[in-house]
Amino acid sequence: MRAHEAGALHAHGYGGPPQWLPYPRDVNELLPQLWPASTDRDEQGRLTVAGLDVVSLARDFGTPAYVMDEADFRARARSFVTDFAAPFEELGCGLDVYYAGKAFLCTQVARWVADEGLGLDVCTGGELAVAQRAGFPGERIGMHGNNKSMAELEAALSYPRAGGGTGVGRIVLDSFDEIERIAAIAGRLGVSAPVMVRVTVGVEAHTHEYIATAHEDQKFGFSLAGGHAAKAVAAVLEHPQLDLLGLHSHIGSQIFDAAGFEVAAQRTIGLHREVRRRHGLTLPELDLGGGFGIAYTSEHAPPALAQMSRQLAETVARECRAEGLEAAQIPRVSIEPGRAIVGPSTFTLYEVGTVKAVELDRGTRAYVSVDGGMSDNVRTALYEADYSCTIANRAGQGPPMLSRVVGKHCESGDIVVMDEYLPADLRPGDLIAVPGTGAYCRALSSQYNHVPRPPVLAVRDGHARVLVRRESVADLLALDVEG
Ligand SMILES: *Cc1c(COP(=O)(O)O)cnc(C)c1O
Repeated sequence: MRAHEAGALHAHGYGGPPQWLPYPRDVNELLPQLWPASTDRDEQGRLTVAGLDVVSLARDFGTPAYVMDEADFRARARSFVTDFAAPFEELGCGLDVYYAGKAFLCTQVARWVADEGLGLDVCTGGELAVAQRAGFPGERIGMHGNNKSMAELEAALSYPRAGGGTGVGRIVLDSFDEIERIAAIAGRLGVSAPVMVRVTVGVEAHTHEYIATAHEDQKFGFSLAGGHAAKAVAAVLEHPQLDLLGLHSHIGSQIFDAAGFEVAAQRTIGLHREVRRRHGLTLPELDLGGGFGIAYTSEHAPPALAQMSRQLAETVARECRAEGLEAAQIPRVSIEPGRAIVGPSTFTLYEVGTVKAVELDRGTRAYVSVDGGMSDNVRTALYEADYSCTIANRAGQGPPMLSRVVGKHCESGDIVVMDEYLPADLRPGDLIAVPGTGAYCRALSSQYNHVPRPPVLAVRDGHARVLVRRESVADLLALDVEG
C-alpha cells in the first residue's frame, strides 16, 4: 500500500495511532538509537548536538536545515572499516568498504569518507564530478548504474589519479550493451578497464523479510538463473581491454536480516565457482553491496554490525570451502553501505507554522505544519517511510498529543512524520527535529512549489559550518531563460 494511493491514508489514519507507537511516558524523551551520538537536551530543555543548541542553529542558519554531526558520521564510517571488517580480516580475505554516495554526497563529505579510509561508490557522472572536486583517490572509486552513458564511462576511465595513470578502481557492468561500449572506449583510450559483473541473484530483501526466487523482474544486473551472468562473464573475458575483478550483488535496502545477504553470497559464490571451472580463473574480488538498515522509529531494532558481518563472513568462508578454495584464494570482499553511515548522523530542523486539530473516528489528531516537507524529505510520500520527531527548542509541558507533521506543499500526501506524539502545548514558532534524515532526503530533494532547498550544516566540537548552502530565490530562477 502506498501513501499516494487513494484510501491508503484513510485506512491508516482514522483508526488512531499505529500499533508500534506506544503512548510515551515522557513526550520529551530522546531514543538514543535514532539520534546522532552527541544529541541531548540542555537544562532549558533545548535539543543540543555537538555542544550546540538548536535554537542558536535556527537563529544563525534559518529553518528548515539538515544538521549533520560530523563526528557521528565519521564514527559510523570508521566502524565499518574496523568492526565490520574484523571477521573478514580473520578469514584472511579482508574487506573494502565503499560509501554509497547516492545516499548523500557533497565535496566535504567525500573528503571525510576518504579520510576515514573508505572507498566511494558513485553511479553517475555528477557524483563522479563531486569525487573529483574533493580530490577523491581514483583507485578507491567504484562506479555502478544500469545505464551509464558513453560520456560517463569515458569520465570514469579518464579519472585522474594522484600517482599518475587514470581511471576509477572498478566499473560495475550491468548489460551486454555496456560490455561492448566500455570495451570500445577502453580500446580507444588505450587503457585497461577494471570491471565487475553485477549479478541478480533472485533475492529481494526489505527490513525483516527477504524473498528468494529463481528470477528477478527488475532492471539491474545480469540474471543468474537465466544464465545471463555466466554469459556476461564469458563476454567480458573475450575483450582483452577488460580486466575482470569479480562479481557484484546488491539485494535491497533497509535490511535487518542477514539471511537475505547469505543467500545472495551463496548464489554469487556459486557463479564464482562456475567461472573457475569453466575459465580456470579465480576472481579476486566479491562485492556484496549495501542495504544495511537503521532505526527510524522505536519500531526498528537493526542488528549490531558486528553480528551481521560475522554471519556474512561465515557464509563466505563456508561457500568458499565448499568450492575447494584455499584460504589465500578467497576473494577480497567489499560492501557498499550508504544509509547506515549517513542516515542517523543527521536530523532536519523545522519551524512549526500552524497546529490544527482534526477529528478522527477515535479521538483527534493534530496536524502540525512545518516550513519544509516533501521537497526536503520525500520518503514518507514516496514509500510510506516512518519517521519520528520531537519538540526541539524547549521541553514540552502538555500531555502527549497524537500528531502528524506535514509540509507546506500543495499535496495532501505531503507528510513528513505520519504518526508521533508531540506535547499538547506545541505552538507556532516552536522547533521540531526529525532524526534519521541523512540518507535519501537531501539526495532526493526537489524544488517543488519553488521552495528553496535547505542547507546542510555540519556540527562538530561546538562549531557549525555550512556544507551545502541554502538555495536562494535567485537559484530558483537561475535556469529560466528569458526572451
Ligand atoms: C543504493 C545502493 C547501495 C547503498 O544502499 P544503502 O541502502 O544506502 O546502504 C549500495 N550499492 C548499490 C549498488 C546501490 O544501488
